[in-house]
Amino acid sequence: MTESVEALRNYVHFLHEHDGVRQVRLTRTAQQGLQRLAAAVKALPESIPNKGGPDNLLSGRAQRAGGSREISTSSAPSVNEPPLEISGSSKVEQLRHLAERASVCVKCPHLAARRHNVVFGVGNPDAKLMFVGEAPGEDEDLKGEPFVGRAGQLLTKMILAMGLTREQVYIGNIVKCRPDVPEGTAGNRKPTKQEMETCVPYLRAQIEVIKPSAMVALGATAVEGLFGPVGTIGSLRGKFLEYRGIPLMPTYHPSYLLRNQSNTEKRKVWEDLLKIMEQLEMPISEKQRNFFLRT
Ligand code: SF4
Repeated sequence: MTESVEALRNYVHFLHEHDGVRQVRLTRTAQQGLQRLAAAVKALPESIPNKGGPDNLLSGRAQRAGGSREISTSSAPSVNEPPLEISGSSKVEQLRHLAERASVCVKCPHLAARRHNVVFGVGNPDAKLMFVGEAPGEDEDLKGEPFVGRAGQLLTKMILAMGLTREQVYIGNIVKCRPDVPEGTAGNRKPTKQEMETCVPYLRAQIEVIKPSAMVALGATAVEGLFGPVGTIGSLRGKFLEYRGIPLMPTYHPSYLLRNQSNTEKRKVWEDLLKIMEQLEMPISEKQRNFFLRT
């Protein structure tokens, strides 16, 4: 049933996008069919079990670089939002279609009304490594690119310290529009559970297209957006989880390091990134191994 709703949504989206059609005239039979569909959808329970199994099976892979962690998936985010259709013959095209769709998305009307840009994601469609954050802040909303503020600059330094560039990895967020804050208020807010559940299909589709070999979840909200409320970032970081077969390392958000600049905390994040480098079989120099060891 949810596939039917998504198919209908896609069709109307297609008409709007490709033919500029703004009104769709339906025959009486189609109208009756839609009314039956709407009634059936209304009667569905709040949470629909995912026929394909939990969204995030943690099977114990990713042993090589520090072992994996088995956690309960019972609290994983609801999968009410059906997967997005991926179209296009290349990764670039597939990501472009998804980005175009996100650019006109108004599933969260309160966010769509206030955003300057939809911050879809940036980087290499063939990236081996993908970073996942929570949501755009003010700087990202204005620029339309994830992680460009102070925390983003620190993330760029972390990527460079690994021997990579921003252009070699892919960076995306759980939520693509800036969570709104009251007019005239400074700062950013954490996205709500509802906002994360509504938007996460875009990220899932990005992951499906890019197929990274490893991922890093930056901060507790990024982990929660993918797995549900499974624990504090302090208790989760340092051990691989697995997201749809992909080893995923939770670590602190760079903004945490901006607030806690001790070498001890920097070293914790660096050790998490070293495990990612081992997982990806990247060369690691002695100098890299010893970063932030002096307290
Ligand atoms: S946050 Fe995501 S789901 Fe909500 S309006 Fe923006 S793109 Fe759409």
